[in-house]
Amino acid sequence: MSGIDLHTHSTVSDGTDSPSELVANAAASGLDVIGLCDHDTIDGWDEALTAGEAAGVRVLRGIEMSCDLKGVSIHLLAYGTRAQDAELAAELARNRAGRSERVPTMLARLAEHGLPVPEEVLYRHVGDSPSVGRPHFADAMVELGYVADRRQAFDQWLADDQPIYVARYSTELETALDLVRAAGGATVIAHPWGRSSRASLPTRYLASLVASRRLDGIEVDHNDHDDQTRAELRALATTAYALITGSSDYHGAGKQDHDLGCNTTSPEVLAELERRVHARGGLL
Ligand code: AMP
Ligand code: ZN
Ligand code: FE
Ligand code: FE
Repeated sequence: MSGIDLHTHSTVSDGTDSPSELVANAAASGLDVIGLCDHDTIDGWDEALTAGEAAGVRVLRGIEMSCDLKGVSIHLLAYGTRAQDAELAAELARNRAGRSERVPTMLARLAEHGLPVPEEVLYRHVGDSPSVGRPHFADAMVELGYVADRRQAFDQWLADDQPIYVARYSTELETALDLVRAAGGATVIAHPWGRSSRASLPTRYLASLVASRRLDGIEVDHNDHDDQTRAELRALATTAYALITGSSDYHGAGKQDHDLGCNTTSPEVLAELERRVHARGGLL
């Protein structure tokens, strides 16, 4: 298999492969290209790019940015932004600070529910990641025997409608679209109709973001979308002239049914993303 998998995660956020391990696994899966899109950080880029050069895997510089649309969490994929862009870097730092600031409240809630997680256990799972996420809490809960796996931790405790969930700061969506483009990047809404976000991102709104040239693409082929959802999103994207992407959203051992290369992006779409990034002064 050869292929382009545009959205993956490493231990620099909540994946379980280091950037080098991710690249090695991509090569073993026969992938030619991966996008490294850790949550709210670019800290994995250098290691992944170096590993990619050695392994013959092209690594694209990506970010999965936490965004807010009227109180609903939306994930925005940014490709090819300039690492030096100060405004985007400051905004990513703000998102990461929001992740860290909610940690004491979440630990207190866990204790209230009879599931005490010592700070050092949590931070062992966070490791070197600058971007603390709920999956790290899930991993600590698995270690302590409270739940069997990340999925159960989310379903019973951590998901947005469950008792341990604590809201955090994330960038207003349209502000994020403008920041990414100003930093030379291309924008793709991640899994727009996965989980609960379909009602927040209706067809007309998505189409208007593309028409106003703030949004480049839509991640259609993602395992949070069933076949019917993919068909509807593909029709929307085609009508709106949005680029259509596909990815695994691989998190290593941290997410079942998201194997590397399970969904891919066409070479034509990658070429167009690249063209747009270069036209904007970014670097893919
Ligand atoms: P956070 O970054 O703290 O908001 O946590 C979001 C991350 O947790 C996402 O990257 C997903 O991979 C994962 N996640 C979110 N919701 C769920 C869920 N219901 N089940 C499994 N994983 C989830
Ligand atoms: Zn994640
Ligand atoms: Fe996501
Ligand atoms: Fe993701």
